[in-house]
Amino acid sequence: MEKLLVVAFTEPDGSLSPQSIESIHAGHALAGPELILGLVGGDVQPALGQLQAIGARRCLAVAGPEFSQPRYATDATAAEALARAAEATLIVAAGTPRTQRILPGVAHRLGGRADTHVTAAAFEGDDLLVSRWFYRQRMEGSLAREQRPWAILLEPGCAVGGGKAAEGALPAVELLSVETPEVLRRTQVEGRQAPSPDQQTIRPDADLLFVVGAGWTKKQADGQVHGVDAEKLIRGFLQASRASLGSSKSLVDMSGEGQAVLPFLSHLNQVGQTGATPRHPKGLSTCCHGEEPHAVGWRFVRERRAINLDPNCGWARGKADVLYVADAFAVMEKVNELLS
Ligand SMILES: Cc1cc2nc3c(=O)[nH]c(=O)nc-3n(C[C@H](O)[C@H](O)[C@H](O)COP(=O)(O)OP(=O)(O)OC[C@H]3O[C@@H](n4cnc5c(N)ncnc54)[C@H](O)[C@@H]3O)c2cc1C
Repeated sequence: MEKLLVVAFTEPDGSLSPQSIESIHAGHALAGPELILGLVGGDVQPALGQLQAIGARRCLAVAGPEFSQPRYATDATAAEALARAAEATLIVAAGTPRTQRILPGVAHRLGGRADTHVTAAAFEGDDLLVSRWFYRQRMEGSLAREQRPWAILLEPGCAVGGGKAAEGALPAVELLSVETPEVLRRTQVEGRQAPSPDQQTIRPDADLLFVVGAGWTKKQADGQVHGVDAEKLIRGFLQASRASLGSSKSLVDMSGEGQAVLPFLSHLNQVGQTGATPRHPKGLSTCCHGEEPHAVGWRFVRERRAINLDPNCGWARGKADVLYVADAFAVMEKVNELLS
């Protein structure tokens, strides 16, 4: 019988991120009321408040100021202590930068194995099978392991809405006492540096993927290019909607070649076969033809809409749920007006 522990790190305010909550629900779908929860953070009380309705067998925690920083040495020590206290054979966590950094090392300390970027996990009889993508998401593989403990990092967004609701009551928390000698605290996190929200156009947690294509930079009906208007409309929509910005390859290639087109785009925004495969519930494509090498990057976007002047563009061929045959400049101007 497997013993499944979900390890979750709390945020600076003591709460759990949506990704951590998703991993706890995924853990509950696998282990049911036998689930063992393991929380780590400066303060775990707010997280306990969020988890009152989660049925679990045990709720372990490692808490204190020394565990508030995302620091390898203390994070790994806390996760190892939780796994040992739980006698876990399976250790599940949301695949965030913080857990991706430590969990393979923790598995090594415990003599186990780790798999990252797992997109699904389910029991077949007594055997746990996990799925993940290989070769830039062109092939999906399913695998099982004999080694225990087995640490599994779940790709955020894959279990949303899936599995059964984790109903029940949270047992009393068992606080573990974990030593943190000076040698574990040598690294200090002094702060975070991140682009301002307006510069940061890639937002993996956004509900909407907004894709811009090369059409924004092409001559329009009046024979002119309207780059300045395009930039204003795109930036205005991103600001109002907080959508994540994706691009076609043609458009980012133009930006890379130094042409004075949308300067806030980089190859990181590229969606498609040679770009990213983001996971957003909805997507809106504008001025992009929807050719297969681009549309293949939309495979995880569940609701797709596109705006294109061409009724025979790729989106019209079964790649979008709704195609608006319209001028994206006019449509987005109206949309921005409605959002303001
Ligand atoms: C090996 C390989 C890998 C590739 N990988 C990728 C990839 O990862 N990602 C990717 O995107 N592409 C990729 N491509 C390129 C892909 O095949 C297309 O060339 C590219 O996606 C086209 O970009 P686009 O649709 O923005 O531009 P275009 O093909 O130029 O289309 C512009 C569109 O804008 C529309 N338009 C113009 N003005 C307006 C307006 N006012 N309102 C509404 N619509 C308007 C036009 O009707 C047209 O459909 C790859 C190609 C190859 C060969």
